[in-house]
Amino acid sequence: MKLFALFALYGLLLVLPLALSAVYGGPPRPVMHDIASGLGMVAFAVILVEFVLSGRFKTVSNQIGMDVTMRLHQGMGRAALGFALLHPFLYGGAPAGGPRPWDATRQLTLSTDMLGLSAGIAAFILLPTFVIFAIYRKQTPQTYEHWRWLHGLGAALIVMMLLVHTIRVGRYADALPVAWYWYLMTTAAVATLVHVYLLAPLRERKRPWRLQGVVPVAPRQWSVTLAPDGHAGLDYKAGQFAWLNVGHSAFSLHENPFSIASAPAAGPEVSFLIKEFGDFTRTVGQIAPGTRAYIDGPFGTLTITGRSEPGVALIAGGVGVAPLLGILREMRMTDDPREVRMIYGASKAADVVFKDELSGENTTIILSDPPDDWDGETGIIDATLLGRLFTQEQCDTWVFLLCGPPAMMDSVEHDLIARGVSARRILSERFDYD
Ligand SMILES: Cc1cc2nc3c(=O)[nH]c(=O)nc-3n(C[C@H](O)[C@H](O)[C@H](O)COP(=O)(O)OP(=O)(O)OC[C@H]3O[C@@H](n4cnc5c(N)ncnc54)[C@H](O)[C@@H]3O)c2cc1C
Repeated sequence: MKLFALFALYGLLLVLPLALSAVYGGPPRPVMHDIASGLGMVAFAVILVEFVLSGRFKTVSNQIGMDVTMRLHQGMGRAALGFALLHPFLYGGAPAGGPRPWDATRQLTLSTDMLGLSAGIAAFILLPTFVIFAIYRKQTPQTYEHWRWLHGLGAALIVMMLLVHTIRVGRYADALPVAWYWYLMTTAAVATLVHVYLLAPLRERKRPWRLQGVVPVAPRQWSVTLAPDGHAGLDYKAGQFAWLNVGHSAFSLHENPFSIASAPAAGPEVSFLIKEFGDFTRTVGQIAPGTRAYIDGPFGTLTITGRSEPGVALIAGGVGVAPLLGILREMRMTDDPREVRMIYGASKAADVVFKDELSGENTTIILSDPPDDWDGETGIIDATLLGRLFTQEQCDTWVFLLCGPPAMMDSVEHDLIARGVSARRILSERFDYD
């Protein structure tokens, strides 16, 4: 229901400027001009809502899932670019110029207000640059933090330019209800930046954490434990994730998302399983105990809390075991009556973390590069393995949680659907949105 309400609200926000323009915008114009204005308005509205689809708003991302939120953000950003690029070309050779007394509603002529047009042209150039820069982020040499800073600043600049353009040369923005829509939506978009970069850090500053320990659990993988410093800790569900900032100011952009590998039932300490990957994760092993940290969370929908299925399948690849470990731990600590089976795929035996904890008849470890003396499963998690480990009845009734490399998740999801597991009973978390 909440999901439906969110999508309905999204649709409404995009349609509202068109509806308000139709009602309050004055006499009709040539249809191509209205299509041009409509495309421009929808592009601007989409861009404004993109701010809430940044992934940092739980009301959205904890409802539709972080992965869907980010896909929507990326897809709609591209759609807005397409609409915006078409927008100026559909006006054709319409007469343009300053205000004409005989055409007060600009039914026949287009405005050439210099400031409004310059703002529109600047946004027209900046928007494709901005979108291309986001799509090819990984091919550019800058750090993620630098890119994030530029992305936020660029987005703020573009909406300011679009506001000036829309209000000064947009025919329909002459109508007060339409103008108010743009003012309110732009204020809300800028307020999201204030929330993410100022208010949320201010709140986190009052709830610091201390690094308790960093323990190597496999080559290039670390178990990192944090304890709340003067507060009750994080109210999370097993399997969720949080943005972790270690050793920087609460206002720093140096924060990374990690799944929580501990169980809420274990108490206020939280632990993460971190694999070395880039500039921050490669330094994890050197962080001194006692270092101050901040946690923004919890986020994510990879959780079995509130689900009614009789059994839980946890299918992990590599460091994707982190959130599923949290769920397994929680189920064991709370004597959860549901049946559980875990499949954990890794490359080498040495890469398998928490071996003792994960050994048991309900866990299958599968290695793609096993040592000679390995007597367990070998290869990858494929349809044959799934067919051996799950009965048809389990496929028809259990909930399946996946986390691992994208290729593994895609193929396992495909195999599960082929076995009759409904999409509603497959939950997943991706560690990379690109
Ligand atoms: C929901 C989620 C849960 C994750 N859980 C785990 C986990 O439990 N264990 C684990 O080892 N890894 C996890 N990751 C991956 C982890 O976040 C990245 O490996 C880490 O951020 C890399 O940071 P870096 O500074 O070392 O490398 P960088 O080179 O700075 O970043 C490498 C890539 O990581 C991603 N990334 C970096 N910072 C951020 C950020 N602030 N927000 C979003 N993406 C970012 C970007 O795609 C970037 O290109 C998770 C990722 C996501 C999205």
